[in-house]
Amino acid sequence: MTVQQPKRRPLSRYLKDFKHTQTHCAHCGKLLDRITLTCRGEIVNKTTIAQLDTLIDDAAWQVEKQEWMALCRFCGDLHCKEQGNYFDIIGFKQYLFEQTEMSHGTIREYVVRLRRLGNHLSEQNIPAPSSLQSLLDDTLDAWLPQTSTNNYRIALRKYWQFQVQLLEASASYQESHITSDIY
Ligand SMILES: [Zn+2]
Repeated sequence: MTVQQPKRRPLSRYLKDFKHTQTHCAHCGKLLDRITLTCRGEIVNKTTIAQLDTLIDDAAWQVEKQEWMALCRFCGDLHCKEQGNYFDIIGFKQYLFEQTEMSHGTIREYVVRLRRLGNHLSEQNIPAPSSLQSLLDDTLDAWLPQTSTNNYRIALRKYWQFQVQLLEASASYQESHITSDIY
């Protein structure tokens, strides 16, 4: 009796099918229009995907699949190209999605604004704010762009809320840890 060999196909085939079955962005849940595929956090473009000709079977694909994600362009750009920014842009975006009721459009606007501000500040070598309070007071004021200054202030204020929420979350985490140490 011969053992039935599992059917093997090139990885690129699996990825093509995968791409077609993804309807929503893995990060923000937005309905996908143009899809960005990422592998282990890096964008993989169409040409590269087409060249992935390793033959694998279904079982191997199930393992490989976990490394791949379908993202909208916005999230793809943000997660894969955002490095060493002045602000924690990705955390900020996540916060807006998870903790506020804002629409996608509004979130996008906030994120873009803060990102632009971050770039603006790092270009001028402005040191990152040393405390939460300095996000709100006039420490950064002198460095804010001359146009739409108020919009940047609003974005900073939102970012401040995000940072406060982070602090609170880590405080309650520690608290629950102390409690579990006692019992
Ligand atoms: Zn997205």
